[in-house]
Amino acid sequence: MALIVQKFGGTSVGSPERILKVAERALRTKRDGHQVVLVVSAMGHTTDELLELMEKIAVRPNPRELDMLLSTGEQVSIALVASAISAIGGKGISLTGAQAGIRTEPLHTKAKIADIQTDRLRQLLADDHIPVVAGFQGITYNGEICTLGRGGSDTTAVALAAALKADMCEIYTDVSGVYTADPRVVPEARLLPEISYDEMLELASLGAQVLHPRSVEYAKQYNLFIRVRSTFDEGLGTVVKGVNELENQTPVRGVTADLNQAKVALKEVPDRPGVAARLFGALSDRGINVDMITQSVRGEQTNDIGFTVTKEELERAVQVTEEVGREVGAKGVVSDEDVAKVSIVGSGMVNHAGIAAKMFQALADGQINIQMISTSEIKVSCVISRSQAQQAVRLVHNAFHLGAPLPAVEAT
Ligand code: ASP
Ligand code: MG
Repeated sequence: MALIVQKFGGTSVGSPERILKVAERALRTKRDGHQVVLVVSAMGHTTDELLELMEKIAVRPNPRELDMLLSTGEQVSIALVASAISAIGGKGISLTGAQAGIRTEPLHTKAKIADIQTDRLRQLLADDHIPVVAGFQGITYNGEICTLGRGGSDTTAVALAAALKADMCEIYTDVSGVYTADPRVVPEARLLPEISYDEMLELASLGAQVLHPRSVEYAKQYNLFIRVRSTFDEGLGTVVKGVNELENQTPVRGVTADLNQAKVALKEVPDRPGVAARLFGALSDRGINVDMITQSVRGEQTNDIGFTVTKEELERAVQVTEEVGREVGAKGVVSDEDVAKVSIVGSGMVNHAGIAAKMFQALADGQINIQMISTSEIKVSCVISRSQAQQAVRLVHNAFHLGAPLPAVEAT
């Protein structure tokens, strides 16, 4: 008997018919002799719709009220999924994050899970129930509902699996697993049978939408296998795990584009110690996450400092940069939203020379200008113009022959 946590995303529970299918799959796993805990997302586009609703009421909603509102999406799903399980002969029981013992830190709309009290879940499992837990939410020690950031149900599932010492965490979604590139952009993209935590972490943070980055961090920390697979077919999907045997044969595992990036530059900053510390200190004090950073030498006395942030944080980042700019006597601040970050990822990269050069050449062949570059041991990222992002992904995918040779690609 294994303990399996199964998480179903918004599309998978998007209609009554689909909810029944989810219930059947969970009950089948239970009847195969396993213990099952389900984690579900809000149905379809519910979370987006709730956000739109709030936008009509308040331009800058109170984060506490936003969490109160958003957490209802998952509560609809759990009640329906638990009822579906019971309707077909199982013992489904819905639990909110709080009822499932999920405690979060007190940070509305992007809380981290602080700890999970599993007593109630264990009791229910021992009693042959299939608990259906609301993803994306938890409660603080002061009793406030907090959500975990968009896509956070994955993190709920992995954290629960770790806390329960589950044998496997299965993430059911509307794609067949993790691909070498987004198959909607690159039709010949290939399904990866396995991928390492580090590679998945990079891909997830770089904009591949399959898994919430924090869920991969937890899985790595607890050495928990995640299987990403489709709700709509029986394919085995992709296993995310520690070691990757294929690593050295394929230095580049995948290519991805992040369209949610914006660029900010502080122009003609006096070249003296402490300026970068002042700017990035001020940004971090306001909780703004900076991604890529460049500093270029303009002349004898001045530099330009450029960096990227997510689009949501652009306005605040520009404000802070303007403040600091005035203080240090910079010439001005410019920003650009029409950018994208295209990246290649692979843990085998460290052992192979010329990987970055090959990527730059592929972009050059497409007349694509590179505005910023950053590298790590397992990735190379380039900021380019947004309108060229898809073309860039195709060119780079092709340059590294990621589409071939083929273990059969499954239809999505
Ligand atoms: N419903 C939330 C969202 O759309 C959480 C999730 O689905 O993972 O972001
Ligand atoms: Mg998701």
